[in-house]
Amino acid sequence: MSVLFRTSGTMQAPAFVLRRGGGGLGAVRMPATIAVIERPDGLVLVDAGWSRSQCAWPERDPGRAKTLFLGLDVKPEDAIASQLLSLGYSPGDVKHIVATHLHIDHIGGAADFPKATVHCAETEWAATWRRGRPSYDPRALDLPTVQRWSFTGPAALGFGASHDLFGDGTVLLLDARGHTEGSTAVAVKLAGEGWMVHAGDAAMFADDVRDDASKPPSLYMRALSWSIPAQRETYARLDAAEREHGARLVPAHDWDVYNALPHTREEAWPCAWTRVKKPKR
Ligand SMILES: [Zn+2]
Repeated sequence: MSVLFRTSGTMQAPAFVLRRGGGGLGAVRMPATIAVIERPDGLVLVDAGWSRSQCAWPERDPGRAKTLFLGLDVKPEDAIASQLLSLGYSPGDVKHIVATHLHIDHIGGAADFPKATVHCAETEWAATWRRGRPSYDPRALDLPTVQRWSFTGPAALGFGASHDLFGDGTVLLLDARGHTEGSTAVAVKLAGEGWMVHAGDAAMFADDVRDDASKPPSLYMRALSWSIPAQRETYARLDAAEREHGARLVPAHDWDVYNALPHTREEAWPCAWTRVKKPKR
């Protein structure tokens, strides 16, 4: 059992918009990182990027203005449903999609998996209903099967609360609020002692976590974060997960981190699923 990573196209924006403490006019290229987790009973995606139709015709959806604003560069084959075929999987193999949050660049691709169960934090779901921010994708509310969780489980990996997705300790959902109200970091148990933590946009870049905590927030954070103080706390927790618990941190939009990740089944990181029971047939 294993985990590998793909990106659903790329986005880009000027460094002075995205980087904490400012930056130059140069463009920062960003992946939309999706984790593909293989389990005995099927695939789990962490985030889903953009859908087939969005990748084929972004001018129509998400539309010209957002395509320009996000510096979105997608081709038809960039949808994760298409990429799974090239990896030797079928889109029907996807049983679960965990949303780190419900922004359009993270959940659009879920539309291509109508039989999968989408998992989302209750607080994130409620925030989407309120539609207080334009970056939410209200179509997430139309997904056929959505399971919502609350962070009622014990502290884990430096986070104050968690939710054990499958009840077997292999996938822990961590309360990483800040970027959005229900932002979630997804910890996957790797073979041996380690963890992989997909941070979603709780940290867009590894430097968000590793930089001096006093660095001022980015323009992007000022414009879009639900709570900058909460986001700073989450940065500290992700830092602790990395330094004290040895977790491999995967921010959703860090191109350098993404390039060093496994992208094929041959390279995939082995996971620990010894406690997973085989499904009854
Ligand atoms: Zn994002």
